Amino acid sequence: MRNAARDMELWERGELLLARELSLLPAGRRDELRALLERMGRLKAELITLSDGAQGSAICAACGGACCRVGRYHPTPLEILAFQVEAETVVTPEFSSSVCPFLGVAGCRMASNRRPFTCVIFICDLIEEWLGDDEVVRLNRLEEELRLLREAVSVRFGPRLTGSLLLEMARRDRDVAPLLIPTIDGG
Ligand code: SF4
Repeated sequence: MRNAARDMELWERGELLLARELSLLPAGRRDELRALLERMGRLKAELITLSDGAQGSAICAACGGACCRVGRYHPTPLEILAFQVEAETVVTPEFSSSVCPFLGVAGCRMASNRRPFTCVIFICDLIEEWLGDDEVVRLNRLEEELRLLREAVSVRFGPRLTGSLLLEMARRDRDVAPLLIPTIDGG
């Protein structure tokens, strides 16, 4: 059984650490990161729109989060930065929930452009049945584009940005390494 208080403590420390590291980023690199995150957000929203067109929201609402049981591990430091770089409030997790701490009565409480990568690329069998061949092709193309973009951000701003925030913060208790590590030349 997970310890909700421990998860909340890791989460809050992660948010504070990332806000501090983001504030220390030179303006040019911050603009670069912001542009990359904005593109990632647009791709995520497109993926969710496709899934919703295949009854995604209705199926998820009826399901009640069977595939969201380990959702607490899905948000990454990169996804927290996507809120912070736009000065948006990060969605507060409810770690005492038996399902995902971000799942509300009407589905995921995160806007589609802010949802974790792991969530947006997962299309369950029930939703897939509603997708036509063209939509599957488009979905695969969007997923590939998002995956490549995520890898590029990881290379330019630090590999730990794409790990689970909770797990990275637990690991940081042992090695105190930063999460946001921009490459010196930006390349
Ligand atoms: S973050 Fe949202 S989409 Fe992802 S598992 Fe949780 S409720 Fe589901």
